[in-house]
Amino acid sequence: MSKLLIFDLDDTLFLCSGVIKEDYSNLEEIKLFSGVKEFLITNNTKKFLVTKGDKEIQEKKVNLLGIKDDFEKIFFPLTDAHKITCFKKIIKQYPNNESWVIGNKITSEIKFGNELGLKTVLLKKGKYKTLKAKDDSEVPDYEIEEFTELNEVLK
Ligand SMILES: [Mg+2]
Repeated sequence: MSKLLIFDLDDTLFLCSGVIKEDYSNLEEIKLFSGVKEFLITNNTKKFLVTKGDKEIQEKKVNLLGIKDDFEKIFFPLTDAHKITCFKKIIKQYPNNESWVIGNKITSEIKFGNELGLKTVLLKKGKYKTLKAKDDSEVPDYEIEEFTELNEVLK
């Protein structure tokens, strides 16, 4: 079964925590994690980006990182409920694919992915990397320390 990948943005594709200032005045300084661009352009699975937050800011990050055209579609949900709806919409559109979600937060995309029956990969980066799972719904199928380990997980 071919795979379908749903990515989170902040602290999943680039380091956000401790880098971006509260007033967003230094957004231009953001850089993709090592291996991200190579992965996005060489991995020929369907890829989606779902990033919660202010659409204007999140869109600016995507443009600055130069990854806008590397996804089938990019979603900018404003709330967690809306984020779950985005996941549902994607998997419903591709029922014959095995859906995976890759993110840095166990209480968000990992939990939602688990609850929807997706394969979940936790990238331990950023301010949420030390969060402990409250129950099984927050335990990812895979944990990686570096983005580049994703290739091995997806084999
Ligand atoms: Mg994140």
